[in-house]
Amino acid sequence: MSLTIKFWGVRGSLPSAPPPTDWTYHVEGVLRNFFSAGYRDPSQISRYIQSLEVPQVGGYGAATTCVEIQSPKGQLILDGGSGIRNLSERIMTGTTGRGKGPFHIFMTHFHWDHVIGLPFFTPNFIPGCEVHYYAVQPELEKLIRGIFQRPYFPVPFEALKAKIHFHVMEPRKPYQLEDMTITPYKLDHPDPCWGLKVECGGKAYAHCVDTEGTRITREELGEDLPLYQNVNLMYFDAQYTLPELAEKANWGHSAAQVGLDIAIREGIQKVLFAHHDPGARIEHVQELKRQTKEYFESRQRFASANQNSLPPVEWDFAHEGLEIVL
Ligand SMILES: [Zn+2]
Ligand SMILES: [Zn+2]
Repeated sequence: MSLTIKFWGVRGSLPSAPPPTDWTYHVEGVLRNFFSAGYRDPSQISRYIQSLEVPQVGGYGAATTCVEIQSPKGQLILDGGSGIRNLSERIMTGTTGRGKGPFHIFMTHFHWDHVIGLPFFTPNFIPGCEVHYYAVQPELEKLIRGIFQRPYFPVPFEALKAKIHFHVMEPRKPYQLEDMTITPYKLDHPDPCWGLKVECGGKAYAHCVDTEGTRITREELGEDLPLYQNVNLMYFDAQYTLPELAEKANWGHSAAQVGLDIAIREGIQKVLFAHHDPGARIEHVQELKRQTKEYFESRQRFASANQNSLPPVEWDFAHEGLEIVL
């Protein structure tokens, strides 16, 4: 039994690609490093590129939140950010043929960056296709209908050819879909936002965007604590640095250090930080990564000074297209 988790969009707030001048500067740096690393011949380019981490060359991606989870028996999609467009393309052109579904889309909340891709999810327009939308928010149907509406989008909801179904979920109540169990828990965000825990065959993924992480202790988290417990992979909102987090209180986003503290306490195996700021370029995210490493190492030093050791939490910053198998 395994879960395959693919991140089709990892940016927050607004789809955002670096402008051409930033790319030119970045490409210049990559080329300079080719030579300073001792390479000379064009035949070595592939080897050089493969020696680097994906974001060092291609960046972290432009698309907003969309995660696909595949289990041995089923598939589900978390959030409909602009990343869902590329997923839709894979569904429509993939080797398995034009997907008929059913497709299951679970929504954390309805901020623009989590719904902006839905009109570009082609199965919505295919006759005979089934698309199921799920959310805790009781106004789910009205909110989805509102996306397919003139003058914001030329095709009204009534003209969609797929069979669309809506499922309002109960907070903290497990929902069974094929071999997966999906449970919504409350996150800390200005408009109600529900993190999703997806479990299958003893593996668990926790989808924790968008959240400010204002409730940290087990007591504060209360009935939402299980979202962070017995988790193999946590996807956590790390839009800000710690000083930015202090400046932007109540904006609903967090910092990697907050997620790391929770992961260390709860023994989460792996953490991916995401919801990168629309203005965050490659170098900026790499600086966040450096600060997170410094913080993690300081916690390790503190633990060993007290004859303790930290659980072996693996962590990184997510990039678009990343795939993890649990
Ligand atoms: Zn968001
Ligand atoms: Zn939001």
